[in-house]
Amino acid sequence: MNKTRDVGLYRELRTMNTPPGPEMWIDGRKMLVFSSNNYLGLANEERLVHSAEKVLREFGVGSSGSRLITGHTDWHHRLEVKIASFKETEAALLFSSGYLANVGVLSSLPEKGDVILSDRLNHASIIDGCRLSQADTVVYQHIDMEDLEKKLMASSSYRRRFIVTDGVFSMDGTIVPLDVLMSLAKKYDACVIIDDAHATGVLGENGKGTSEYFGVQPDIVIGTLSKAIGTEGGFVAGSNELIEFLLNHARTFIFQTAMPPAICAASCTAFEIIEEGNIKQKVLLSNVKKIQTSLREMGYTVIGDCTPIIPVMIGGSHEAVLFAEKLQENGIFAPAIRPPTVPDGESRIRLTVTSDHQPEHIDYLLECFYSIGKELNIIL
Ligand SMILES: *Cc1c(COP(=O)(O)O)cnc(C)c1O
Repeated sequence: MNKTRDVGLYRELRTMNTPPGPEMWIDGRKMLVFSSNNYLGLANEERLVHSAEKVLREFGVGSSGSRLITGHTDWHHRLEVKIASFKETEAALLFSSGYLANVGVLSSLPEKGDVILSDRLNHASIIDGCRLSQADTVVYQHIDMEDLEKKLMASSSYRRRFIVTDGVFSMDGTIVPLDVLMSLAKKYDACVIIDDAHATGVLGENGKGTSEYFGVQPDIVIGTLSKAIGTEGGFVAGSNELIEFLLNHARTFIFQTAMPPAICAASCTAFEIIEEGNIKQKVLLSNVKKIQTSLREMGYTVIGDCTPIIPVMIGGSHEAVLFAEKLQENGIFAPAIRPPTVPDGESRIRLTVTSDHQPEHIDYLLECFYSIGKELNIIL
């Protein structure tokens, strides 16, 4: 542990003393939060709390068993039907988290003699799924479709090829060029697995995710309920055949206690709210644009596409940490991301924004970025 401490990688817990929202009491101090995944503000939304409460009274707190033994309820079924219809697939299967959904799919579906082509910046749960798989893994450069094609061409001796990618990348805020990726997959007869954790509820006209944004349908869509949906749990959406396979083979499904029914009920309500209209989503994306545009006008390098993940490049890890500390002194909670999470010299402040952030929250954030940037000579 001393070694971890020495290289500045020591991690510590902070205690939230209030429910999720733009303003939270953290370790006893009121902070403005620009680092949560509660993109649509649903985690503490009254209608979700009400649905959960009602089902909590009917079904109790825990689910008491795995889905295949005593844990499956009508609420699990209803949520799976809801997810399949939202993602426009034949069927869907719940997992207890997005992490477990990725590990479950990647460790069961690709077999010995197959290959998984994986983006270099894919989420840790995809990397762990690849490690558990009997298939070989080949990593291609981040959203580099030329490199992917080269690696597809070089892998023709494998029995089956799978391409796995995040929809929106969690540290860079980039969106995968899914239309191009899908046409490569078609050309080389590969199966596409997309992890839509940060895109579900956010991308596309109706918030359906990366598929809707590009108007294409990948073979397998994985997602989480813990970000824009505001609850907990993960899912896989795809064909009936795929879901039947996973129900019989994915170890993180079979050997895991089912999600609590009350959380399933709250998740159903979240999808209903999203389906009622895209007002929250519109506010979210206008908040994103406001922050990106203003920071760029100040002279910051802001990377990524139009997503709620807004990485602001600072440079050295020392400067990034200092920047985050100064933000904190000003009551703003946003983390510095540094090596080894990102390459040397690419340390950044990773902002995330939600539809609940008010104009005055954003104005204050921008004021702080202006004064700290000047003070530390990051902007001129
Ligand atoms: C958050 C995240 C996950 C994990 O989802 P959980 O439900 O929190 O386990 C998986 N993939 C990506 C890309 C994520 O950002």
